[in-house]
Amino acid sequence: MANNIQAIRGMHDITPEQTPYWQQLESVVRDVLHAYGYREIRMPLVEKTELFKRSIGEVTDIVEKEMYTFEDRNGDSLTLRPEGTASCVRACLENGLLHNQTQRLWYMGPMFRHERPQKGRYRQFQQIGVEVFGMEGPDIDAEMILMSARILKALGLFDSVTLHINTLGTPEARAGYREKLVEYLSLHRDKLDEDSLRRLESNPLRILDSKNPAMQQLIEDAPRLMDHLDEASEAHFDRLKAYLDAEGIRYVVNPRLVRGLDYYSRSVFEWITDQLGAQGTVLAGGRFDGLVEQLGGKPTPAIGFAMGIERLVALLEDQGRAMPADNMPHVYLMAMGHEAEMKAMQLAESLRNELSGLRVLLHCGGGSFKSQMKRADKVGARYALILGDDELAGGVIAVKDLEKGEQEHRSLEEVTGYLASSLGLNK
Ligand code: ATP
Ligand code: MG
Repeated sequence: MANNIQAIRGMHDITPEQTPYWQQLESVVRDVLHAYGYREIRMPLVEKTELFKRSIGEVTDIVEKEMYTFEDRNGDSLTLRPEGTASCVRACLENGLLHNQTQRLWYMGPMFRHERPQKGRYRQFQQIGVEVFGMEGPDIDAEMILMSARILKALGLFDSVTLHINTLGTPEARAGYREKLVEYLSLHRDKLDEDSLRRLESNPLRILDSKNPAMQQLIEDAPRLMDHLDEASEAHFDRLKAYLDAEGIRYVVNPRLVRGLDYYSRSVFEWITDQLGAQGTVLAGGRFDGLVEQLGGKPTPAIGFAMGIERLVALLEDQGRAMPADNMPHVYLMAMGHEAEMKAMQLAESLRNELSGLRVLLHCGGGSFKSQMKRADKVGARYALILGDDELAGGVIAVKDLEKGEQEHRSLEEVTGYLASSLGLNK
């Protein structure tokens, strides 16, 4: 037997059993985003490699080792997007969306990172991302956090997560701090792991983000950015906290929250759960005031966040949330014999015409009464409608309530009204 071709490691199918969770999550999130006036934007999955190098930063995990980069047939270097922010900024600039206007935008789709696959960490994964342009905050920073809180509440996950916030200050303030940090870390070179040694010169702040247990004490004792903040960033952060306090949103100020990418500044935040092992961040974001200019636009303040859908779905599944039943068929329509089959097809069409929202599954492919009834049970239909020779002759149809196990005959004219009232659908 030939070997079956398998999916690429870290890239998963989402089966029909799982899609209801996804669909429910997507629609809940979409409703909340629209309630705050965010509009959807859709970008290509592939961009010029240069875009990510310039925005994310050369010395980041993503650019150093996670990108799916390839040459297309013209010899151009292209990359499957590892995240959405860079593409979103590019799209805004290219479409003139930032000329004298602010934008509240969202997008949804797959991202690609060549990471070591494990629970909650995949090579193709799905994000819903949100970006705002042209607002300096901290009011909009607070709005974004409130919106993310509302999303988590709407999903029933609010009690499973904790909000961590931090401020990274301005790039200038960070530069001063960076020197202090490098000085401190250089004194403890012997305790740095290989990654950290490499980052010591290029991106020392990222060392604070290290998950290596052996380095935790060193990180704990490191000088804090919080103590080297510029006054304006400090005031911005205080005001953000005041907004959150006023709304009763609880948070942890986490000085080690530095985010992985170069482009962040000032407010950063993450919603973290302890229910998914090491992959605990389900939603993460922050301000990136320098990025638009870095990509060729006018200086434009900006802030955004992205949530990892696989991790949110995993939380929903772990909590044993009942599968949303709204894609189960209401009716399984069975027919025995050629004439009845023809009639059944017509009936299925007319039921769908007359009852909007009715989900009718027509049995196709013939077979015995018993085998058809088995199928009706298996798909979880509420009613089986049965058309056999007797029913045809009598101009009626058998209606079996599969929940109660009761069966009765109804006239073909009657059946629409009966389904409408028993299923609560509008005729
Ligand atoms: P992590 O620290 O877990 O690697 P990150 O900082 O790289 O996350 P972001 O780039 O901020 O992640 O992406 C936002 C969110 O997208 C994350 O909080 C997470 O929920 C999700 N995410 C990131 N990488 C992956 C992945 N490889 N597989 C699944 N979800 C992911
Ligand atoms: Mg990562």
